[in-house]
Amino acid sequence: MKQEKRSTLFQHSPVDENLTVLTNTDEISSVPFVNAAGMKMKEVKFAVTPLMSTYTLFKINVVGRLRRWRIGLYRSYCRPNTSTRRQPIQLRVYTVKGASGQGSLALSVAKKRWSISRNILTLHTRWASVTWWLFLTSALGNGKLGSHHLPDDALLCDERTATSSAKKRIAYTVAHELAHQWFGNLVTMKWWNDIWLNEGFATFVGWLAIDHLFPEWDIWTGYITEVLSGALGLDGLRSSHPIDVPVRIGSEALEVLDAISYKKGSSIIRMLNNFLGGDVFMNGVRSYLKEFQYKNAVTADLWRHLALSSGLDIPTLMQAWTDKTGYPLIIVESEVYDDEAKTLTVTLSQSRFLSGGELKPEEDAVTWWVPLTVATHLTGKSSESRVFSAKNGIITFPYDAAENSFWKLNVNGSGVYRVKYGNTQVANISRTLQLSLDNFTAGDRMMFVADAYALTSAGLGDIKNVLDLIQGMSKETDFNVLTQISSTLATLKSITYKESALIRDGLKSLGKAVFSPLVKSLGFEFSVEEEYFTGQKRILAISVASGCGEEFVISELRSRFDKFIAGDLQALHPELRSTAMNLLSAMHRLTL
Ligand SMILES: [Zn+2]
Repeated sequence: MKQEKRSTLFQHSPVDENLTVLTNTDEISSVPFVNAAGMKMKEVKFAVTPLMSTYTLFKINVVGRLRRWRIGLYRSYCRPNTSTRRQPIQLRVYTVKGASGQGSLALSVAKKRWSISRNILTLHTRWASVTWWLFLTSALGNGKLGSHHLPDDALLCDERTATSSAKKRIAYTVAHELAHQWFGNLVTMKWWNDIWLNEGFATFVGWLAIDHLFPEWDIWTGYITEVLSGALGLDGLRSSHPIDVPVRIGSEALEVLDAISYKKGSSIIRMLNNFLGGDVFMNGVRSYLKEFQYKNAVTADLWRHLALSSGLDIPTLMQAWTDKTGYPLIIVESEVYDDEAKTLTVTLSQSRFLSGGELKPEEDAVTWWVPLTVATHLTGKSSESRVFSAKNGIITFPYDAAENSFWKLNVNGSGVYRVKYGNTQVANISRTLQLSLDNFTAGDRMMFVADAYALTSAGLGDIKNVLDLIQGMSKETDFNVLTQISSTLATLKSITYKESALIRDGLKSLGKAVFSPLVKSLGFEFSVEEEYFTGQKRILAISVASGCGEEFVISELRSRFDKFIAGDLQALHPELRSTAMNLLSAMHRLTL
């Protein structure tokens, strides 16, 4: 399939009269007829499409009646290139009959999302002047969204009862798929090796839009666990592959549609956006879209436009990020404080990070361009940016070695790399965390734990550093950070099961130190009025604290479980039942 071939397409379809036919453009006529077998049919014709890559064509026939939603009040106008006629954009959600009420959230997000993209990207796609069916769910029987199969809960929910995570999933799905109007439909990759231009951008812009729509969700902190960690995890494997990978035939394309295209692609876009600044970055993206609208592009085309907007040699800077496997580990070799100049000079080196350790010299040939961000007690949570693009080098920044001073790299996990600090520096960070968690962002705290654990797991770090950092976060209340701590403790427990009781008991004590106070403050009762994260923290804290052997939590769970099996269904909230059953059955097995 050649993505370079674009054409306008005209479709018509003879179908059973009871079928609804959907394709990329609006129906322009439907003429009933009886076929040779005596069946009642209809000939449905559709409007001609704009210039499009043929892989974006789709058509489905749907049995039965559908409930269609139209936005009558929403009027947003675009000016197609070939016409001065302005047309309103119509956004529609199709569901099976009776489920239309569950499409309201997807529709309202789509409406807001469209406005955001128009404002950010300024380009109106001609897709907007035709009907582009995006919202088709598997409930339709032949559920496709473009070429993606999606479960019902990716688009449909009852807004009155849906959890925040369910709403977040729907909002993100809509935001991501609408981003493809620009990244994929308006500008299409020349060949499948550049599929990351579609998926990396759709992922990044999807998160960007959700942040605009729902700032209360603190979406970028969640990005670290949901996207960046996935990218670092997969790309830390020796068996990973570059973002830009040769694809010989179209059928191989599915093999590169993995977390590297979506998550690493999105993460390097986020890194570049953070380094260049949103305005410079978006100016480059806008001019790229403008030059290649209704055409095909390659990665170098995007870099050329970002170079024009930034004045930097972006093609050279980004080459290793797309053409090479892996990402760097930044190692802090030493630091020297100048009391007179009030500066700190830090010696750094970089090498490829492999989660399995044992890096061979030939695997460490790449030198990445690394946009380093530095935060200190002087800068607070803001940061200074600088570039590190050598195997070894130094950076110098303003510093005052006063009491409670600190510094750190990769502020808020904005870069696609890990950092290895010296043991003294880790101890200082842990001490700073104990003084006030607020010295660092939630993203910083997550990356401290994630990096320290990854280094330990790779044989490059001391497990004591992981434990010290978690100890420093014993007053943690951010759900995303708690999730990171919980998963790290769980993994440490599983890999140290053969170690001495002293080590295993130490891990349990640490789990209790972080999560038991949360159980005490949050209790066991849920309220419909409480915020989503409150309930999620309660579930997590009870699960981890009881798993670490916290007596008061276990005894409360046992008491509620006994009442529950005696018939008092209110005694044990549904969210706690699996925790109670898993815990008590595990304890029962131990006593056999
Ligand atoms: Zn996508």
